[in-house]
Amino acid sequence: MNHEKVKSLVHDLLIELGEDPKREGLLKTPERVAASLAFLTRGYSMNPHKVVGDAVFESATNNMVIVRDIEVYSLCEHHMLPFFGKCHVGYISRDKVLGVSKIARIVDCFAARLQLQERLSSEIARAVKKEIGAVGVGVVMECRHLCMMMRGVEKQNSVMTTSSVLGSFHSDPATRSEFMALAMRRD
Ligand code: ZN
Repeated sequence: MNHEKVKSLVHDLLIELGEDPKREGLLKTPERVAASLAFLTRGYSMNPHKVVGDAVFESATNNMVIVRDIEVYSLCEHHMLPFFGKCHVGYISRDKVLGVSKIARIVDCFAARLQLQERLSSEIARAVKKEIGAVGVGVVMECRHLCMMMRGVEKQNSVMTTSSVLGSFHSDPATRSEFMALAMRRD
């Protein structure tokens, strides 16, 4: 991202919105917005393979692993407004497990871009499957979209749920049910 260019675009945007970029409260706004956008879209320069690094461990189990309630913050690609919520990731792999924090880092890698919730779910699922050669992967995501809450239909309390299931989570109904029951459990 060209930081100076983005700063100047934000400066011009303020004028178009009817603001005065020279008033005190706005003097540093272009700088702050550019820095904020660079952070919120840092995923473009992240590579899931590098993120995982060497945090794939040998383990003699073939049980389902589920990491629940991973916080997700992303920007919708239609309005560049935030959507946020929780993501639950489950997988079954042959003799390999992924460090728990690395799953959260894979989520960040794809969430920190302009996204659609549906695509975000499937990109996370595909990356987890690829990095550990999982037999099956499931991702469920529950998010609130500010573009729905602040504008448009103004539905304040709607939560959008998306899921992406691959491998045995897709082909085996019992595996999928077990994952969904554990991922969506309310306690
Ligand atoms: Zn939107």
